[in-house]
Amino acid sequence: MRTAFEKSCMATATLSIDLTALCENWRVLDAMTTCETAAVVKADGYGLGGDRPARALLHAGVKRFFVASSEEGTSLRQALGPEPEINILSGHMSGDTDMISDMTLTPMLNSVDQMLRHFEALPTAPFGVQLDTGMNRLGMEPAEWAATRDIVLAQGPTLLMSHLACADDPENPMNPRQLGAFHEMTDGIDVPRSLAATGGILLGDDYHFDLTRPGVGLYGGMPFVEATPVAQLDIPVIQIRDLEPGETVGYSNTWIANRPSRVATLAAGYADGILRAMGEDAWVHHGDTPCKVIGRISMDMIAADVTDLTETPTHLQLLGGHQSVDTLAEAAGTIGYEILTSLGERYGRRYKG
Ligand SMILES: *Cc1c(COP(=O)(O)O)cnc(C)c1O
Repeated sequence: MRTAFEKSCMATATLSIDLTALCENWRVLDAMTTCETAAVVKADGYGLGGDRPARALLHAGVKRFFVASSEEGTSLRQALGPEPEINILSGHMSGDTDMISDMTLTPMLNSVDQMLRHFEALPTAPFGVQLDTGMNRLGMEPAEWAATRDIVLAQGPTLLMSHLACADDPENPMNPRQLGAFHEMTDGIDVPRSLAATGGILLGDDYHFDLTRPGVGLYGGMPFVEATPVAQLDIPVIQIRDLEPGETVGYSNTWIANRPSRVATLAAGYADGILRAMGEDAWVHHGDTPCKVIGRISMDMIAADVTDLTETPTHLQLLGGHQSVDTLAEAAGTIGYEILTSLGERYGRRYKG
């Protein structure tokens, strides 16, 4: 016979996604501009997963979505139906033609090669153009654009876009430099323009143009400081043990009890995106009470010091109102984006709202 405690400990870790908060974040970002606001849902909605977040955003009023690849665009089209525009940031890559055509995807063409491929294979299919204003990652460079723009504009692009490299740092001189380059490449052209992601929205009106493309802010991440948290991660306790002073926990004995201690072993580890680099700088919470994560993070497990709890916990919370994706990111020396997109496949996902 299993005890009630053991039964309640059997569930896998649960990633709860608050769709109401997600849509609220979109509305708040939308209200900061007078232009249209798209939604970036690449990498499976920044790791939150599934069709539900994108469908919730569609119902909230999003008309244009952005994803990284045509494969992502294909799944998104199947989830959202024929209505919204689905833009592909990697453009029209070799092998993508059938997906672009069958799923009515709109590639953001990044080079002369992609333009030739698109115009030859799908001469009447919609497309946008990505311009490089200095990030040197994707898009046409000024000289390339100058040489081809008349031909391209004659085909009627849906959008001219570029991406800011330093928008999370409002004082960075790279921002006005890229803004100037974007104006130089696009002023006087009668096609909708887009420069700002989450960071760019916060830089103010000059950066908004006709369409913004927030991603991370929708999911509750920096630099959108006022974001409502969207993801909550509750991890079940597998086992609890009592330790004498001097006993150690986990690989390499990095944590040593300096008092009689109770230690909980939790059922998620670095294979679930609890980055090993977080080390002992992360906390888990039982209600409002913080418990320190101790010892090395293992592949499928972490340990927490629950000595000070008055109850025996069945679950402890890693992510939520008490500890944001950005706090965890700081503990691991990374950014909230990486925490979100690392969240594991093994979590049960539960959608609220
Ligand atoms: C990822 C991405 C976005 C969204 O950026 P956030 O910083 O997450 O808001 C917008 N545009 C492009 C080109 C991107 O690659």
